[in-house]
Amino acid sequence: MKVKTRFAPSPTGDLHIGSVRTALYSWLFARRYNGKFILRIEDTDFERSKSLSVESILKGLKWLGLNWDEGPYFQTQRLDRYREVIEIMLNTGNAYKCYCSPKEIEAERFKQLSEGKKPHYTRVCRNLKIKNINKKYAIRFKNPTSGKVTFEDKIRGKITFNNLELDDLIIQRSNGMPTYNFCVVIDDLDMNITHVIRGEDHINNTPRQINILKSLNAKIPIYAHVSMILNENGKKFSKRDNSENIIEYYKKGFLPEALINYIIRLGWSHGDQEIFNLAELKKLFNLDTINKSSSAFNIKKLLWLNKYYINNLSIDYICNILKDYMKNENINIEKGPNLKFLLNLYKNRFYTLQDMACNFRFFYEEFESFDLQSANKYLILKNLCILTNIYNKMKNFSFWEIEILSEAIHNEAIKLNIKLKEINMLLRVVLTGRAYSPNISSVIFLLGKEKTLLRLKKAILFIKNKTYVKS
Ligand SMILES: [Zn+2]
Repeated sequence: MKVKTRFAPSPTGDLHIGSVRTALYSWLFARRYNGKFILRIEDTDFERSKSLSVESILKGLKWLGLNWDEGPYFQTQRLDRYREVIEIMLNTGNAYKCYCSPKEIEAERFKQLSEGKKPHYTRVCRNLKIKNINKKYAIRFKNPTSGKVTFEDKIRGKITFNNLELDDLIIQRSNGMPTYNFCVVIDDLDMNITHVIRGEDHINNTPRQINILKSLNAKIPIYAHVSMILNENGKKFSKRDNSENIIEYYKKGFLPEALINYIIRLGWSHGDQEIFNLAELKKLFNLDTINKSSSAFNIKKLLWLNKYYINNLSIDYICNILKDYMKNENINIEKGPNLKFLLNLYKNRFYTLQDMACNFRFFYEEFESFDLQSANKYLILKNLCILTNIYNKMKNFSFWEIEILSEAIHNEAIKLNIKLKEINMLLRVVLTGRAYSPNISSVIFLLGKEKTLLRLKKAILFIKNKTYVKS
């Protein structure tokens, strides 16, 4: 049996964490068994489907590297096929026309509820002898009225439904459009899907879909229903969680490798192992160790993984991606140090590439103002002499090397009998605007002579102006 899985989103919104996980599981399962992974867009809900969502879904999958072997198929391009099967089902007596109007159905529902019964379709049209041809009709599937439907869920084990609990499902609406549950079945059948991996919200659809497949004498695929992902507060994700769209994670500076690693671990495990790359996952992934309880999203863990990948993937690769973020921030990297040097110096200081890009700005552009707290602490009269000395010394340097710079700062500290740490902090504020940077000699080296002197001068003026205003 050739494994064939599918990812079948409805284009009614963006690609979110939960659907990415389903896609990832389906994709990995196909890769693991050298099978095929199909992308199918379930767009029969005309009113809610948007072409922008299709674009967003494709973009998200591409960014994560979840490539598909077939598709994207669009259900709206397969309407003739659905109608053909419905016609066959009407002829074989597996489907029938229901002439009940929405009003009649609503009235019946109301009556059942007021009698304390579970609302259901009473199947009045199932055995109609006279066909009322002048009335609008929907088409219903003739669900068995006795017996059970049982399937072995790969994640949840055996699941059984009584046929009596299942209504005669509408497979074509009175407007002529086939319904979601029906299209899914015909697609899975026509596309030879062997494993249906999807969210647990589909469990209730499964017995209905199995019954339709049985009526068509089709092979039943293997089902695996993945549990929900909850937000950090243990609740269902909502639009307010700001993670509705996977592309937001790109914008925030996450690497696809980190996100894949994070998402795979939300509900799947391989011993205690935390770090997985795709190549490894393609060999290890299976459906048997997927957890059936829901998992909670944890941004700290994702940040930790992102930092790990920034530090452990090849520097050229990270540098190339970082260039895009610099560009998005309108930072011209031609006007400053080699980005790779910077990355090497700073890579273990940031959790996201976006953060990094913003923090690299001062290497390429003059910063607008000093951090107020740091300026109040360091840019004071007492430090004017240190800055002037360093300025005069560095102005005459004909070599701009880390060792020479470091030595100059060191000597200045000894000469004035102040702690090296103090002088370093002062220079941080002067050269970067705030009291946070890696090794200051490296920063000075990468900034270059011109920018360094300019900023020293600026700080000297700042102190002079401040004291002038005060006195
Ligand atoms: Zn009816």
